[in-house]
Amino acid sequence: MITHVRWVIILFLRTRLLVKNRVDTTAVMRYQRINLVIVSAIAFIAFTVSTCAAQTQIDVSDNSYSIRDDIRIGRQAATEIEKQLPTIAERSLVDNHVESVGRRLVRGIPSRYRHRGFLYRFDVVNVRDINAFALPGGPLYVNRGLIEAAANEGQLAGVLAHEISHIALRHGTAQATEAQSARFRLPAIGGAILGAVIGGNVGGLVAQGTQIGLGIYFLRYKREYEEQADILATQIMSRAGYDPRALAEMFRTIERRSGSGAPQFLSSHPSPEDRYERIIEEANLLKRPRPPRHDSAQFQRARRSLLTMAPAPSMQQAIRSGN
Ligand SMILES: [Zn+2]
Repeated sequence: MITHVRWVIILFLRTRLLVKNRVDTTAVMRYQRINLVIVSAIAFIAFTVSTCAAQTQIDVSDNSYSIRDDIRIGRQAATEIEKQLPTIAERSLVDNHVESVGRRLVRGIPSRYRHRGFLYRFDVVNVRDINAFALPGGPLYVNRGLIEAAANEGQLAGVLAHEISHIALRHGTAQATEAQSARFRLPAIGGAILGAVIGGNVGGLVAQGTQIGLGIYFLRYKREYEEQADILATQIMSRAGYDPRALAEMFRTIERRSGSGAPQFLSSHPSPEDRYERIIEEANLLKRPRPPRHDSAQFQRARRSLLTMAPAPSMQQAIRSGN
């Protein structure tokens, strides 16, 4: 692309030189027209460079697991999680809305991050902790507390896009690959992931008898992966018609709502402020959907329906009481 720009500039200068040496006015006019075309071409190339090439390219990490492994691990952990955690009824107002926002975002995943057999599905966990998490291969969970904290559909979409990005970039198995070369025994993974979801003492107990600590590879990602998920989420949101700045706003909303105790969704290394800045930076490189999808009556209805339900327990209470 840079070579093209250089050629156009050389042509432009040559044309100007020719114009200088001629007295024929029609020829001058013709060359002025050529100049105009060349200047427009330069502007067009500059615009193309700034809108396409500037989008951050994500380097996908090495992964010794197969796509089928991701799908199998995710399915197995999902079965375990759904046995233990209370979920909001399928096809309820909230569940339907989260599904439809999720599906819209999945359509925005760039083709190079799509994997055959990944089945993205969305469930709402009836707990008040502000959190969301994703399992390899597609199962994605968003806590009721997070939907209640979101101010609009764009903010909910931001969190879902971030979790979808962890799945699409296969961060769980990439992190496990990096941590140890030997493959984990698959039957042990479900409990370990569940233990990591719950956290604290109860989480440790759930994870016992499995490979303690293993779950963190699938749910608590290193700094680089969190940054990658924020960047891909920004791109997915833009492709799905949302203004990606809503994800940045969501970090601030979560921080405000949670007071001093940092919720799990934010507890990973990059500070919320750094993440905010990085998302805005990436969003500025992308084409802004016009008009962007920001909020909807469906989101506000779904959120209101949560207020009519009995208050949600915390994640740890839900596990202790066996829902
Ligand atoms: Zn994350």
